[in-house]
Amino acid sequence: MFYLGYDIGGTNIAAGIVDDTFAIRARSTAPFPLGEPYEATVDLMLSQMEQMCAQLGIACSELACIGIAVPGSIDPSCQRVINAHNLRFYDVPLVQAVKDRLPEEVPVYLANDANAATLAELRAGALKGCSTGVLMTLGTGVGGGLILNGQLFNGGMNNGVELGHMILQHNGPACTCGANGCLETLCSATWLVQQGKRAVEEYPNSHIAAAAQNDIRRVDAKTVIDCAKAGDAVALAIFARYVSQLSDAVCSIIALLDPEVIAIGGGVSHAGNFLFGPLRKQVDATCFFGMHHGKIVPAVMGNDAGIVGAAMLGYR
Ligand SMILES: [Zn+2]
Repeated sequence: MFYLGYDIGGTNIAAGIVDDTFAIRARSTAPFPLGEPYEATVDLMLSQMEQMCAQLGIACSELACIGIAVPGSIDPSCQRVINAHNLRFYDVPLVQAVKDRLPEEVPVYLANDANAATLAELRAGALKGCSTGVLMTLGTGVGGGLILNGQLFNGGMNNGVELGHMILQHNGPACTCGANGCLETLCSATWLVQQGKRAVEEYPNSHIAAAAQNDIRRVDAKTVIDCAKAGDAVALAIFARYVSQLSDAVCSIIALLDPEVIAIGGGVSHAGNFLFGPLRKQVDATCFFGMHHGKIVPAVMGNDAGIVGAAMLGYR
């Protein structure tokens, strides 16, 4: 069977046809038509579908289902995109718009991209075989998803799961959502960038300032991580605080859910054992269940998580 997945982002529409082994058999990428009516996106999606089906020598009607992942909120019936700011999609009936254009009846599913990524990790990645698992993605923001009883859990009211907006610090830094001290204000790559920039200004003789050529615009999360790896005291102090904040978040999730696996992905996770080593150590020391908590592992699906997860939305 073949399953089509779309991962729509503010830059590109990435699409792929996935088979029963969760391998991507055909791919297509198109620039996202930012600023145009949503129908332009649907046009592109349809031409990507035709092109990939032709490449595999199958008819579009042979697709078992079509899944769409978007970076934003979805209505509880999973038909409409309520708010995907990066796409400028506000209350868009995306499922119906795609169905209307299909030559044949094919089921169409819609999900938030973090949920799609979680599903991909469940079927083919770090959460495979899990009854209870969590995916956290540490990027510009913090996303994530939840597996309960072996299935994607989209909230008791079907509003979604917003790991990144659990409040970690009372009156903490302002979050894009309007609240203060959300997990993502303290555990995202953006936090590392902010601290790195401040360090460049405050410590002009540090390794991190030299790495950025004393230009705060050159600081990204990797700058901080690389300088910490190289032993720069300023970067090490920032990174240690980051690990500590992330450990608090992970310990809270463990206290609530006692998951078998917490998979961590996103840009910051590329720090590898430099992150996972001290994180596990700190969670061991802080966690309510002591050392008896589930595994903390890197996510494995990477950039394909959105496509594979979207394709699997209708997989039964
Ligand atoms: Zn928030």
